[in-house]
Amino acid sequence: VHSVLKNVKYVYESSRDISTSRIYKDRKEKVVILGSGWGGIHFFINIDFKKYDVTLISPRSYFTFTPLLPCLCSGTLSAKVCTENVSTFLKKKGSSGKYLQMECTDISPEERQVICRDNKNNEVKIAYDHLVISVGAKTNSFNIKGVDKHAFFVKDIEGVINIRKRFLDVLDICCTDKISNEEKKKLLHVVVVGGGPTGVEVAGEFADFINKDVKKKYKNIFPLISVSIIEGGKNLLPTFTQNISDFTKRTFHTANINVLTNYYVKEVDEDTICVQSSLDQNEKKKQIPYGLLIWASGLAQTPLITNFLKKIPEQVNNRILNVNGHLAVIGIKEQNIYAIGDCKKIQPLQLHQNFHEVLDYFSSSSTTFSSDLLKSKANELSKKFPQVSQSKWDYKKNKKTQMDKHQFCEYLKEIDENYKSPIPTAQNAKQEAYFLSNLFNTLMDKKADGHQFPSFVEKWKGSIAYIGSHQVVAHLPFFEITGGLFSFTFWKMVYIQLLLTWRSRFAFIMDFLRIKFFGRPFSK
Ligand code: FAD
Ligand code: NAD
Repeated sequence: VHSVLKNVKYVYESSRDISTSRIYKDRKEKVVILGSGWGGIHFFINIDFKKYDVTLISPRSYFTFTPLLPCLCSGTLSAKVCTENVSTFLKKKGSSGKYLQMECTDISPEERQVICRDNKNNEVKIAYDHLVISVGAKTNSFNIKGVDKHAFFVKDIEGVINIRKRFLDVLDICCTDKISNEEKKKLLHVVVVGGGPTGVEVAGEFADFINKDVKKKYKNIFPLISVSIIEGGKNLLPTFTQNISDFTKRTFHTANINVLTNYYVKEVDEDTICVQSSLDQNEKKKQIPYGLLIWASGLAQTPLITNFLKKIPEQVNNRILNVNGHLAVIGIKEQNIYAIGDCKKIQPLQLHQNFHEVLDYFSSSSTTFSSDLLKSKANELSKKFPQVSQSKWDYKKNKKTQMDKHQFCEYLKEIDENYKSPIPTAQNAKQEAYFLSNLFNTLMDKKADGHQFPSFVEKWKGSIAYIGSHQVVAHLPFFEITGGLFSFTFWKMVYIQLLLTWRSRFAFIMDFLRIKFFGRPFSK
């Protein structure tokens, strides 16, 4: 009997290898993650390897801690602080995940596989049961002529190392007497386009480097160096408060950074940037000579996402991947493809289109409704409709009493229209990664029984930016910081705590000690 059982077990084991998960439940379901950035790596860190067969695919074998990238332009920090090798996260107690260094070029939902390209340009197909897309976004050049050819981008380690190298090369070139002062002035003009947090932090770091270290080493050419920031809107850091924007402008003036707000860059060539006033279209366009152009004007989607959208009939006209409240890609029938981070936008179920379902949350005898009544059900309702959560809808500002059914439906429509998807930040990508991996770890088994997944609602923890001259601005839930003696210490404490490993925390401290005693390095 024992031997027969053994044979049965053998047949079972071998057939299991070639079967699918739905036939043999004990096969671990295969989860494939695309991208090793904020979303991908945190999903990988938190998903249960014992429960799932997890594979991370990314052309980048490391995670980049993007908030510190601007510090690499100036040499304040070195690349080792901002990177974590994926291999650091491959093993968890008694189980491990896999990493494949490849770029995904296509997604085939019907065949449940992703098509990838490895280092040697070979095509490889990888099957999945669940796919998590976290490929981020690229810098948006808005198809402005000359940008892709002449500008540098602050998106990854390679980009910032190139920026630094170009600036140090220019310094060396300008040390010789072979070129005129006029030409040197042009070459030594660093222009940052985009007054969002990326552009502001990069401009601040450059000013620090120039005003402190370059000034000492390149005394002769120091007076010829300049930094400018060009922003199409009227404010720097437009997503922070007005007070912070004004403080940033003042700090930049003190640090000799030229601030050009209300000007849009229209065209770029090898030597000049053409800008036009966004206030007065009749104003003559200006030509600004430059030596180094850094482009930080927001985000655009990667070719992978743009091509994938064309395959989903419900999304062919979208520019960004739309996901539902629990981050599953809309239009994928099997609901086994998810997207997190900068490559997606949340498009939740509409309250007004599901009015009868919303009414079920209230007593059947209710004939009049109020914003307070809706607020009392907000926690429950927001599991399906994230737009009613108190962090997404201001019940105080939009107080309404005595609404009949029709008016209530209109009120719900207003809430639907007011919903804003989480903005593309590291903190949101990380929160989405934890939310989704927790769903996988705890609720995915219950999906087949028709169990409803909750919706994702982000928690805003504030924004912080280093603007140079040891000044930090922060827009936080209960207060704001506009520079001051301890603001830079506060910034360092925040980042020490946010870094992923003790190795990078130690490297962060050592780099700050190094520049305190020896100044920023000039090595390329
Ligand atoms: P990313 O972190 O960009 O990761 C994308 C990953 O996908 C990468 O590993 C990439 O190699 C991989 N990938 C790309 N294409 C493919 C493909 N075809 N196949 C497989 N893998 C692919 N946010 C904040 O909240 N606070 C800050 O202070 C802050 N500072 C920032 C500073 C800078 C300079 C920049 C550029 C951004 C900053 N952000 C900040 C924004 C934040 O970095 C992004 O919102 C965050 O990185 C988004 O995470 P993600 O996982 O979607 O994408
Ligand atoms: P952004 O979209 O926040 O800012 C880009 C800016 O460039 C805008 O203000 C826009 O008006 C301007 N612009 C666009 N085209 C222009 C043109 N042709 N000429 C002149 N100006 C032009 O982009 P970002 O700063 O790269 O940030 C991207 C995301 O990353 C955002 O969500 C941001 O919050 C996040 N981020 C956060 C931090 C932080 O919190 N410290 C730092 C960096 C990035």
